[in-house]
Amino acid sequence: MNILKMAVISFLLCNVLPALSQSMSAQEIIEEAAEAMGGLDRIMNVDSLVMTGFSQTLGLGGSASPHPKSPKKWTSQNDITRSFNLNSMQALQTHRQGFLYPFALAFGHAWNPSSQIQQGVSVLNHPLTALRAALASDTELGAISIEDDNIVIEFTLGGGETLWLGINQFNKLPAWSRWIGPSPTLGELTYTSWFTGYSPFGEVRLPSGINTEIDWRESVVTEFHVDGYELDAVLPAFEIEAGMSFDGGDILDVEVTQVAEQVWDLRLVTENPTVETNGAGIVEFEDHLLMFEAYGSEANTIALIEAANNLVPGKQVTEVVVSHHHFDHSGGLRTAVSLGLTIISKRENEALFREMVSRPAPNFPDALALNPQPLKFIPVDEHLVLEDANQRVDVYEVVGHMHMTDAVFAYVPDEQVLMQGDMFVIEWDWHWWGDNYIDSIEHFDLNPVIDIPVHGVVSSFDEVINNIDSQVTAAREFCTRNESIGIYMAGCQVKYTRD
Ligand SMILES: [Zn+2]
Repeated sequence: MNILKMAVISFLLCNVLPALSQSMSAQEIIEEAAEAMGGLDRIMNVDSLVMTGFSQTLGLGGSASPHPKSPKKWTSQNDITRSFNLNSMQALQTHRQGFLYPFALAFGHAWNPSSQIQQGVSVLNHPLTALRAALASDTELGAISIEDDNIVIEFTLGGGETLWLGINQFNKLPAWSRWIGPSPTLGELTYTSWFTGYSPFGEVRLPSGINTEIDWRESVVTEFHVDGYELDAVLPAFEIEAGMSFDGGDILDVEVTQVAEQVWDLRLVTENPTVETNGAGIVEFEDHLLMFEAYGSEANTIALIEAANNLVPGKQVTEVVVSHHHFDHSGGLRTAVSLGLTIISKRENEALFREMVSRPAPNFPDALALNPQPLKFIPVDEHLVLEDANQRVDVYEVVGHMHMTDAVFAYVPDEQVLMQGDMFVIEWDWHWWGDNYIDSIEHFDLNPVIDIPVHGVVSSFDEVINNIDSQVTAAREFCTRNESIGIYMAGCQVKYTRD
C-alpha cells in the first residue's frame, strides 16, 4: 500500500467516526450504550447490584520521595462487597483493608472490616450507575465530543454536578465516567474511572475492571478487580462500621502552651478523638513568627496561624517550615501560600510544591484559588540557619528515615527544642526506622531536651528515646508473630541498631 492510500484511509477513519456521532443526539448515544449493556428497559429496571472483588488504592503523596518516579505506597482492600441501591443511588462498601508498606499504627495492618456509605457523584464510577444517572429525568445532557476511541457526553445532575461519560465507538459500551472533586493539596482533581473487560452477567454486560486515574502525574488511584456480580440481590442494611480516622471533625479550640522562652506549642482540639493529635511549633523572631508545619487542611492551618498571631502583639507568622511532602503534612501548603507566607523545606520538595500551588480550582475554590499568590520558597540542603538579633533556628535535613527521604526538622539551639514531623510520634504502635531520630541529632551534634511534634504531644528527649525503643520492640514482635503464621510483612525485619 502506498503512502497516499494510507493517508486517505486514515483521513476517512478519523473523520467518519465523529460524523456518526454528530448525526445522533446525546440521548440516542446513551440509549445505544444501554442497549449494548443489555437493553434500555433491563438497565432501567435493575433495582440493585452487588459487586464483589478486591482493590488497591493509592494514598496521594505517600511515596518516600516527592519525585514523580518515586515508588508508590499502595493500600489493599480485600473481601470487598459494594452494594448499590440503584433507585436511591447509594452504595454501601464493606472491605478489609491493609497497608502494603510498613505503617506505624496497628490498624493499618489489622485487616479489620470497615464500611462506608457512598452517594452522589461517588457512586457514579460504575457504568450502570453512570448510565442511569445520565438517563435520569432531572439530568441535563450537554455537549458531545470525541476523545480517542470514545464519544464523550457531558451531563449535569439535578444537584448541579457536571460529569462526563465516554462511550466506546466500536462496541458502544461505556468506556469511562469522569467527574471533578476537591483536593486540599492539589486544589481540585479530575477523576476518570475506566471500565474494562466487560462480560455478560445474566442479561447485563458489566466490567471486570475499574481503574480510576486522576489528572495529576497520570496517577492511578484505585484498581478495582471484580470477582463477581449479583443483579437484583437483596441488599444489606446501609449501616456503617467506621474504621480508624484521621479526621477529627470540627476544630473546637487551639491549646497554647509556652514550651520555652519565645517558643510555643499549639495543639488542635477537635470534636472527635482521632488516631493522633496534631499541632505546630511557633518560634518568635525580632519582627515575625516562624511556624513549624502547615498541617492537614485549610481549616487546621488557618486555626493555627490565627492562634499564633495572637501570641505576641505586633508579630505575625510570616514563614512556615514544611517537614516533608506527605499530603497530610503539606495539607495547609496552599492556605499558607494564599496568606503570603514563605515556605521553607527540603530543596527536593520545591518542584512538587510548585505543582500544588499552581493548580487552579475553579469548581471548588479554596483560599489559594480565591487569592492566588506565588510560591515563596527557601530551599534547605543539609542545613539552613534562620537568624536575627533576637533568635536563631537551625533547619536540618532528616537523616536515614525511609518513611520520608526528603524531610527537614528544626532546632532552637538556645532552648534545646527540636521540632519535627513523623520522626517520632508518641501515639505510634510501631517504629520501623527508630534510628532516624538519634542519627539526625548525632549527625548535626545537637542536644535536644524538648520535642515538639506535629503529631502527638510535647515530650522530653528521654520520653522520645524510651518510646522509640518500645515501638521498635513492638514492631519486631509484630514481624515475629506474622512470620510464625507464614506471613512475611513489608518492613520486616525492623532496621534498628541501638539496642
Ligand atoms: Zn509522613
